[in-house]
Amino acid sequence: MMSKLVSVIVPAYNEEASLLHLYEALKKLMESLPNYDWEILFINDGSKDKTLSIIESLYDTDKRIAYVDLSRNFGKEKAMLAGFDYCKGDCAVMIDADLQDPPYLIKDMLQYWEEGFEDVYAKRKDRGKEPWLRKKLSMMFYNMLDRSTRFEVLKNVGDFRLLDKKCIEALKQLRESERYTKGLFCWIGYKKREILFDRKDRAYGQTHWSFWQLAGLAIEGFTSFTTTPLRFATIIGCTTAFCAILYLIWTLIKVAFWGDPVAGFPTLISVILFLGAVQLIAIGILGEYIGRIFNEAKHRPTYLIENYKARRQ
Ligand code: UDP
Ligand code: MG
Repeated sequence: MMSKLVSVIVPAYNEEASLLHLYEALKKLMESLPNYDWEILFINDGSKDKTLSIIESLYDTDKRIAYVDLSRNFGKEKAMLAGFDYCKGDCAVMIDADLQDPPYLIKDMLQYWEEGFEDVYAKRKDRGKEPWLRKKLSMMFYNMLDRSTRFEVLKNVGDFRLLDKKCIEALKQLRESERYTKGLFCWIGYKKREILFDRKDRAYGQTHWSFWQLAGLAIEGFTSFTTTPLRFATIIGCTTAFCAILYLIWTLIKVAFWGDPVAGFPTLISVILFLGAVQLIAIGILGEYIGRIFNEAKHRPTYLIENYKARRQ
């Protein structure tokens, strides 16, 4: 019987410091599981350091290695899509290049896969050494997103997971250019199973995410999965209008019965500022969605590749 092929997809952007360590760890893992065929698919996401030449030299020494070289830096979300497009496995494991995701977990993931689970994801017990505010904000974000979508949004789950071929085929069909892959994993459904693990701090190099990039990703998450913010804008508009009518009636009554010595500059200015702010927020929300429509309407390819190399046919 042919053994099953497991693809390990590794998106890498400026990871010269950790690639060899990752490869060593994966090699150990592959040797401990000789019943499977293996493919390690590196996605070089336009790295500016020696990442590509390290991948090329690994490709020359190990037949199991394949790589896609993207034409520039497209970001991890698109690099992952390239991984789904080019992997050949009966299942695929997404893993970060920086060794924050422990490769030994893949063994347990494979076990669950053999039991019939189609999406085995690693859930962080603890978010590691992250700033307090970042932790709080990301919890808030997950809770809000979860409440406003129809499907369950998994909290504290990253991209480290094993996906059955079925899931890969499903994800390949979701070709939106602004991607929030964590949400897509939840959206596709299929039989899911979690594994708990302690996420370590980055061993080499630096995180690629700044606060603003994370905030951007959060907005991305909302606008690609729910139109609740639009409804929110409508509700605020209605509430404000209702309050305004009550206030108008009250003012008319006041004028009719007591007369009105012109007063109320403070009230006037605060009402004007408040309404102005609400309008700007609503326009901003609209803008986010229109921006997405604009980007998707262009129908550009999600990423471009410079090169793809693999020995397996
Ligand atoms: N990555 C990528 N393209 C990018 C940024 C990151 O392919 O533009 C890869 C990176 O090499 C790593 C993974 O995505 O393998 C996770 O990146 P990082 O460790 O910076 O994110 P974090 O662990 O902080 O979420
Ligand atoms: Mg990392």
